[in-house]
Amino acid sequence: MSIQSNPTIEAQLKSLTQELDDTVAKLEEVYSQLNLKIVEAELTEIELTQILNASIDGMWVIDFNHEILRVNTTMLKLLDKQQHEVIGNKCYSFFHSSICNERRCPMIRIKEGDDLVQYDINLPCQGKIRHYSLTATPFLGLLNEIIGVVEIYRDITLRKKAELKLKEANKRLKELVHIDGLTELANRRYFDFCLEKEWKRSCREHKPISLIMCDIDFFKRFNDTYGHQAGDDCLKLVANTLRIHARRPGDVAARYGGEEFGFILPNTDVKGALYVAESIRKHVEELGIAHIRSDIGQHVTISLGVSGIVPCNQFTPEALIEYADKALYSAKTNGRNRVFSSHVEY
Ligand code: GH3
Ligand code: MG
Ligand code: MG
Repeated sequence: MSIQSNPTIEAQLKSLTQELDDTVAKLEEVYSQLNLKIVEAELTEIELTQILNASIDGMWVIDFNHEILRVNTTMLKLLDKQQHEVIGNKCYSFFHSSICNERRCPMIRIKEGDDLVQYDINLPCQGKIRHYSLTATPFLGLLNEIIGVVEIYRDITLRKKAELKLKEANKRLKELVHIDGLTELANRRYFDFCLEKEWKRSCREHKPISLIMCDIDFFKRFNDTYGHQAGDDCLKLVANTLRIHARRPGDVAARYGGEEFGFILPNTDVKGALYVAESIRKHVEELGIAHIRSDIGQHVTISLGVSGIVPCNQFTPEALIEYADKALYSAKTNGRNRVFSSHVEY
């Protein structure tokens, strides 16, 4: 029996073939679009990696299980690790810092609703402690839900070092403003400042305050005999004697000017100040600094004037200085190498 062509079947076959061709064409279209998407996704991934790695800040992305999802090369350098050693591991296994398990932990803060966490932390990096400014923001999933944290570590070690240096320089500068260059005692400016301050405090607390003014005897002759450098050395030794007598909090030993020194004794009456003054006088004499042209003896000596008061509004600190100066003058005119006192009358 010969096969006869059946137009109906042929038509159906043709239509089916066409349908199949269409479906294949559509599938090919979908497939090529899919391929395009895959290439695009790969490109995006490459671009993203490049962008992350271009950053001078360390970055990583952590999910809520503390697992590291992404990390950039700066962060790897910070951790001194390879990528495969980091991805999938827990953040706290790399540096268990002071913030782990604390309320300060960025993860906890982001979970609690903060959308930006920022502070400075110190971390060990290749055997040294470095300073970082940490910024953490939420990491969002496809549905915009928070699924982790993006952390950025900016190395601020250089800035911190510069800040520290500046702080130290400022402190030193402040000290220099208050310190006499030769003797390293407080200078006149600081003496005036302290006297004013202690005077006010004594006024408020109705406590006595005393002052000792000291002056080296025949110091001009000392300079003339031994030279200016020896004079400077002598000033330093006398200054040191005053320094070691400033034992109580608030005591201030200062170089008042030239070969003259001032000593503020808050919360001390004249009797107490006289005791300290006599001790200073004796101590200087016992230093045994040769002074062959002194009329007192063979060694450097000092004269001291003491004044004391329980301050009241009627007087100013200048009165205390004036009376100590008067007492010093009396010590000078009454033979030197001695202590005289003068009460401020009120
Ligand atoms: P008096 O016993 O009456 O106090 O006599 P004096 O010679 O000590 O007093 P006078 O005021 O006549 O001289 C003080 C001297 O102190 C003069 C000055 O050259 C010296 N002098 C002041 N400041 C310094 C200093 O910083 N270094 C040195 N080496 N000498 C100084
Ligand atoms: Mg003098
Ligand atoms: Mg003198």
